[in-house]
Amino acid sequence: MKPQVLLLLILPALVGCDQTPTGRHQLTLVPDYIMTDIGRQTFAQMRQSQRVVTEPAINERVRCVAREIIKAAARLYPEAKMPKTWDVAVFQNPTPNAFALPGGHIGVHTGMLRLADNPAQLAAVIGHEVGHLLANHGNERLTQQLGIKAVLLLVGLLGDIDNQQILQAIGVGARLGITLPFSRAHEEEADLMGLQMMAAAGFPPSQSVALWRNMARSGGAQPLEFLSTHPAHDTRIQNLQSHMAPALDRFQHAQPPACPP
Ligand SMILES: [Zn+2]
Repeated sequence: MKPQVLLLLILPALVGCDQTPTGRHQLTLVPDYIMTDIGRQTFAQMRQSQRVVTEPAINERVRCVAREIIKAAARLYPEAKMPKTWDVAVFQNPTPNAFALPGGHIGVHTGMLRLADNPAQLAAVIGHEVGHLLANHGNERLTQQLGIKAVLLLVGLLGDIDNQQILQAIGVGARLGITLPFSRAHEEEADLMGLQMMAAAGFPPSQSVALWRNMARSGGAQPLEFLSTHPAHDTRIQNLQSHMAPALDRFQHAQPPACPP
C-alpha cells in the first residue's frame, strides 16, 4: 500500500470531526497556522493595494464596535479559538461589504458604513463576520473545495495550492471577481452568532433586521459576501426573528456599549 493511501485511511480517525460554537459538526482539515498565515498575508495585501481610511473618528467608530463584539464573543463562546490580537481597518470602497479573516483581521468598507445607519447595525455586520471566523467557516469551505488536497496539505505533502481558491474560501475573492457565496448553513450560523454577540454587547438585536432591510434596498449585482446572498434576505430576516427572544433577553441584561454614534 502506498504511504499516501495509508495516510488517507488513518487520517479521519486522527482529525475526527469538529464542532462549531453552535454545535454543528464540521470537517476542518487545513491546519490553523496555515489559515492564520493566509489571513495575515491577504490582509497585508489588501492594506497595500486599497486605500485605507486614516480619519481617527471613523476608525474609532468601527474599532469601538469591534471591541465590544469581540469581548461579547469571548464571553459567549469560551470554547472557540479566539485570535490573540485583532486588527481593524476601514477601506475606502463604495460597495457595502465587510469581512473577518483568520488570525483576527477585520475589514469594513466605507460603503458598509454608509449603509449601516447606527453603531448597532455596524455591530450586526461585525458580529456576522466574527461569527464566520469563530465558526471556522473559511477552513470548512477550503476543506470542501480542496477535498483530498486538504488532507495532503495537512500532512505537508502538497506544495502549491491555488491562491484564488483560498481567497474564495475565506470570503475575499470578490476583489478578483470570483467569490462564491458562503453556503446557507454558514450564513445562518453567522447570523445567529452575530445576533447573540450584538445583544450580549448591549446593541439592540432588532437592528440586525433593520440592517438586512437596508441591504435589500441597496440591491446590486456585485458578487460580494453580503450582496451575493441577496435572494435570501427574507429567509434571513425570518431566521433572525425566530431567534430574537433569547437575544432580547441577553440585551436587557447587558451593559450599554460606549461607542460614538
Ligand atoms: Zn456571511
